[in-house]
Amino acid sequence: MAIVSALGAALIPAPAGHATDGPNSSAVQEAAQAFDDAALRIDTSPATELARWTGPIYLAIAEHQGMEPHTGKVEAAVRMIAGIARVTVSRVNWGDTRANFIVRAGTVQEPGKSLCRSSVDWMDDGSMVRVEIVVNVTAPDRVTRCINHEVLHGFGFRGHPHGSFSVLSYRHPHQAQLTGIDRLMLEALYDPRLRAGMRAAEASAAACGILAEKLGTGPAEARTLCATRLVAARRHLAAMPPFLQPGYRDAGY
Ligand SMILES: [Zn+2]
Repeated sequence: MAIVSALGAALIPAPAGHATDGPNSSAVQEAAQAFDDAALRIDTSPATELARWTGPIYLAIAEHQGMEPHTGKVEAAVRMIAGIARVTVSRVNWGDTRANFIVRAGTVQEPGKSLCRSSVDWMDDGSMVRVEIVVNVTAPDRVTRCINHEVLHGFGFRGHPHGSFSVLSYRHPHQAQLTGIDRLMLEALYDPRLRAGMRAAEASAAACGILAEKLGTGPAEARTLCATRLVAARRHLAAMPPFLQPGYRDAGY
């Protein structure tokens, strides 16, 4: 089992404009690309399978080292995102052995690690098993973005859709709340037509169909758009380097 990936929230400059969403093919293509970038990559490397929660989340939040003012915000973010994904959340005490979604404060800079980061762990069958999030409490004006960005990673989005207006995109570093595309991607990832462990190319095509439907595209046009998507996704994923970027992989814990 178990690949563990640390997903830091580094920033890159140059905020870019984003396409206007609408029931048209460019909106579908953009949403489908965003989904592939967010759900079918592990940071910058291709994922072999879709990962998502298949059982309940037991959320434990540290109430020390500066997390106290933010625990309500963390729980609200996890419950809001879980509500869209239809995943059950139970808050448990710090140290509870059932805890599988763990959030603590980041206060001391470690070499090569962002103070705002997450590690996600999933099984070969694509079921998420453990998430650990570190929230940078030393930058109060960025706490909301850090929480929403990292909690989304914790629901199975292991990459970053930089080309889209998303809280997961480094090109929109001041976006703190989930955007329309984030909600769409989340609905698609947890749609019953996808499943944990689904192979990446198959998941890409199926997600495209779901996103097209949600964006109001007719079935015939959706089939055309998403058929080409399957070929493009296979080619794109095959062309990506089969390694993780240095500094983005932990040995496990
Ligand atoms: Zn990230």
